[in-house]
Amino acid sequence: MTAYVLGHKIPDSDSICGAISLAYLKNAIGEQAVPVRQGELNPESAFILDKFGIEAPELKTAFAGEEVYIVDYSDLAQGPDDLRQATILGIVDHHKLGDMTTSAPLECWIRPVGCSNTIIKEMYDYYNVEIPAHIAGIMMCAILSDTVIFKSPTCTEIDIKAVEALAKIAGIDDYKAFGVEMFKVKSQVEGTPARELVMRDFKDFDMSGKLVGIGQLETVDLSVFDSIKAELEADIAKLKAEGNRHSVCLLLTDIMKEGSELLVASDDPALIEAAFASKLSDNKAWLEGVLSRKKQVVPPLEKAFA
Ligand code: MG
Ligand code: MG
Ligand code: MG
Repeated sequence: MTAYVLGHKIPDSDSICGAISLAYLKNAIGEQAVPVRQGELNPESAFILDKFGIEAPELKTAFAGEEVYIVDYSDLAQGPDDLRQATILGIVDHHKLGDMTTSAPLECWIRPVGCSNTIIKEMYDYYNVEIPAHIAGIMMCAILSDTVIFKSPTCTEIDIKAVEALAKIAGIDDYKAFGVEMFKVKSQVEGTPARELVMRDFKDFDMSGKLVGIGQLETVDLSVFDSIKAELEADIAKLKAEGNRHSVCLLLTDIMKEGSELLVASDDPALIEAAFASKLSDNKAWLEGVLSRKKQVVPPLEKAFA
């Protein structure tokens, strides 16, 4: 039976590149596996696949009765709607443990590193499988993206070593310059509808029974938002009003200044203020040093909601 390898909904580069790199490894060790995606490619992922001449995975969002490998999450809310009806053969992830369970033993590669592709690199080493140059290239890009070119507090020595090794295989001399080029692509927001930007890298979290949505836009220069910030603020308020979310947060991250502006639409703004120990002014706050949703935003919010 062919297994599908899939990342989370609203796929980022780690989810897309990880599905491809893990499926390649599985085939190399004699298991049939096909990478699939859970949504449209973001501009950064499209740029990466184009650079290394790799086709985007097929869109497939229903998995009842199928066998799957999960990459880059273990929260049911971030997966396909019928995931409970699929057989999860394995999980490769670098987030907090979510609420997925299985009825049979599974292969689990979960580590506190900066990127799922760092773990997949370790899997290639473990199975002694050679990584082709184009696969190494996309794995390198995913790690540079997730670790914000090593600036994120989620980045570890293992991630840096993995990038150095992958860059060598891919034939990229200056991987940092390559990373900046990638983030410049990511920073292009002009002409994109506000809702599309809010949802570009958006995750829902169940926080003590309350649904909290958190989006993040990473740029090399926050001034790109000057002309559209009011629209983004209006849109997160609208998004909250449309659904059953208690709060919607949007992080506008400046990877050069190394901090994020937090935009908030919440039923209880005081709770958000308590989480970050900072006053919201006009539903906004500057969070100095905050680059990582996973490590610096979700944990304090979960604590405040508990
Ligand atoms: Mg991800
Ligand atoms: Mg990731
Ligand atoms: Mg990210």
